[in-house]
Amino acid sequence: METSPEGKLSGFGTTIFTVMSQLAADHDAINLAQGFPDFDGPEALRARVDHHLNHGHNQYAPLAGVSELREQIAHKVANLYQYSADPETDITVTPGATEAIYCALTAVVHRGDEVIVIDPAYDTYVPGILLNGGVPKRIPMSGADFSIDWARVEDAVTPRTRVLMINSPHNPGGRCLDDHDITALRDLLGRHPLLVISDEVYEHIVFDQRQHLSLLRYPDLAARAFVISSFGKTYHVTGWRIGYCVAPPDLTREFRRVHQFINFSTNTPISHALADFMRDSPGFHLELAGFYQQKRDLFCSLLEGSGFRLTPAQGTYFQLAEYSHISDLPDTEFARELTIRHGVAAIPVSVFYERPPDMRVVRFCFAKEDETLRTAAGRISGL
Ligand code: GLN
Repeated sequence: METSPEGKLSGFGTTIFTVMSQLAADHDAINLAQGFPDFDGPEALRARVDHHLNHGHNQYAPLAGVSELREQIAHKVANLYQYSADPETDITVTPGATEAIYCALTAVVHRGDEVIVIDPAYDTYVPGILLNGGVPKRIPMSGADFSIDWARVEDAVTPRTRVLMINSPHNPGGRCLDDHDITALRDLLGRHPLLVISDEVYEHIVFDQRQHLSLLRYPDLAARAFVISSFGKTYHVTGWRIGYCVAPPDLTREFRRVHQFINFSTNTPISHALADFMRDSPGFHLELAGFYQQKRDLFCSLLEGSGFRLTPAQGTYFQLAEYSHISDLPDTEFARELTIRHGVAAIPVSVFYERPPDMRVVRFCFAKEDETLRTAAGRISGL
């Protein structure tokens, strides 16, 4: 008897982040593709990991996460968003935001349920929906500014629609939700019984005096939402794989039912270290926007006068660059050429779409030392 090797995601290749990081390594290119800093997180934070590793914090954390860390998350969302989250019933620590997104989808998407995804969309959303038997309904953002066409979102709602996925600050577009979006979202949820999965992992990286409009600021929206964030982006430690989900008790209960069977719980010494650091350095995340705005501005200014056209990102640590003055190649090929011939890796943006529009755009990560950004820009600013 022959067995079929076909898996449930056999139609998908390897994620673009791995593909481009591998290509960058193979060609000794500067990796501005996959999003991660080329500098370490704060020394005091790393010292706390060392401390907890050596002081007996090496066994399973509670299912919901180390309670000291959940308490710090509750303080943070109270201070920033005036949201009152009970660490016992509303907050779950997860091995990365990616796991949290998957748990939220798995908790609520039943076979045949439709999930609205706004393109360009981060690449874990659709596989997570499909693995749960859900049906992704992908709506393109409108125009080059990556704004959400709320009328189109509403047109996509059917009696089977269960969830709307949103992401702000948006990866890869860099756009942040504004008051108009919140009003439109509120109207939509007033008319339709949808849940929202809100991916806010870049919540502290918003520029030009913007405020991050977390759904946690709006009690009526928060009551229907899984709000997901990440420590990796905030503390420059993407390799630690740790994030969290804030949701009201009824949603958190379902979320934890899934989480317990996927990972059970999250890395104990790192959770304790983050809790200590958040307690001792409560202002760290408030400095992040300024820190990254300087890098965004540096990167944009280094490419001024090149053939790339850049509209400064509103948030995230990604900068899009339009290159139609440089090349007619499709973005997947142009990103390869940049990596192999010019020594700078980038992410093609078309991979985040179901039906890519006619655009020539790549994404650069500027979470790098200024020196790295200068060297990278030096290699491509003549294009
Ligand atoms: N979030 C990162 C990015 O957008 C990638 C994370 C990953 O490689 N899974 O580049």
